[in-house]
Amino acid sequence: MVYTGVLTKMQTEFLEPIQYYLVFENDFIHINQLLNKSIDIKRVGYQCLSCGLDRPIFRQGFCKTCFFEKPLAGDWIMRPELSTAHLGKEDRDLEYEKKVQLQPHIVYLANSSNVKVGVTRKSQVPTRWIDQGAHEALEIVEVPNRYLAGITEVALKDHVADKTNWRTMLKNEIKDEDLLEWKQSLKKYIPEEALPYFIENNKETHLHFPVEKYPEKLKSLNLTKTPHYSGKLVGIKGQYLIFEDNTVFNVRSNEGAVVELQV
Ligand SMILES: [Zn+2]
Repeated sequence: MVYTGVLTKMQTEFLEPIQYYLVFENDFIHINQLLNKSIDIKRVGYQCLSCGLDRPIFRQGFCKTCFFEKPLAGDWIMRPELSTAHLGKEDRDLEYEKKVQLQPHIVYLANSSNVKVGVTRKSQVPTRWIDQGAHEALEIVEVPNRYLAGITEVALKDHVADKTNWRTMLKNEIKDEDLLEWKQSLKKYIPEEALPYFIENNKETHLHFPVEKYPEKLKSLNLTKTPHYSGKLVGIKGQYLIFEDNTVFNVRSNEGAVVELQV
């Protein structure tokens, strides 16, 4: 079978193990069913996720123009503390920003290679954790807007990591941490404005990824540099496809590539 479409991050289902899907305009590919099978992937073009034009992808699946102009690529996406919709202040498009920023957000702890703090919209739990390849995660606060989540994250960053090591995550060199204990010990650093939203009683979420064999060394595949690759799929973790020859492919960082996928 040959499927053609624009790569966007894999859709997921929180089951045991996690289920992954690639969604193309006319096809829906259940990636778990491709485990232990050969996949041939070829980049045949680009399609910006915003304007749809065949232009080089700059970041987050967007061409350079869209990345710097479209409301869905504003700085507050990556840096939630810069959110201003709660003040009625526009960055690029206030209506859009209100819709995204003025909704419940979660500040969480996730452990994919080490314990880290992060922010996500509540509607993205547990999707965000799946995308990061976290094997365990725990909510710390649930706040009514993105700004409050952002300032909480900034305050906690001085005391816990805010980055993960994707190599460690993919090699599965992980350890279990007591996130409830972490949450309690970080509580004192939560800004006063966010403290009323502290979640007192909750439990860790555990995630299981469909991986048959973890890679020992890693070779990262980038379709811009290497437009054609074939290999046997042995696992899926985070937004990565893991192949038998230690090649790992980050679907998310290749968003906007038009590919021919042969299975
Ligand atoms: Zn564009």
